Amino acid sequence: MTFPSRHEMKPWRSRTYLDAANFQSCVICEESDGTVVSCHLPLMGAAPAGTGQKCSDIISVHCCRKCHVYLDGEGRKDYHVRLMAICRTLIRNVDDGLLVVNG
Ligand SMILES: [Zn+2]
Repeated sequence: MTFPSRHEMKPWRSRTYLDAANFQSCVICEESDGTVVSCHLPLMGAAPAGTGQKCSDIISVHCCRKCHVYLDGEGRKDYHVRLMAICRTLIRNVDDGLLVVNG
């Protein structure tokens, strides 16, 4: 099975999508300490991103500063937590009406 190079796909961008993290709880630790933002979460070629470019905004998670530091550091290969965070953020955004599936 072959996939197109992630460099051939254009990253999806949405300020509205990213700003939805404001005032939310962290999807990993459930903390609501005012530090929760949308954190881009590259997944080893799964999401388009050029050199020095963030992955698509759709691959971002609502997480607090502490969890963001973890994901960017020692949790870089913690794929269970990374996948869980993406799923929880997507479900939250569907539940909140930010992501709408037609049909
Ligand atoms: Zn957290």
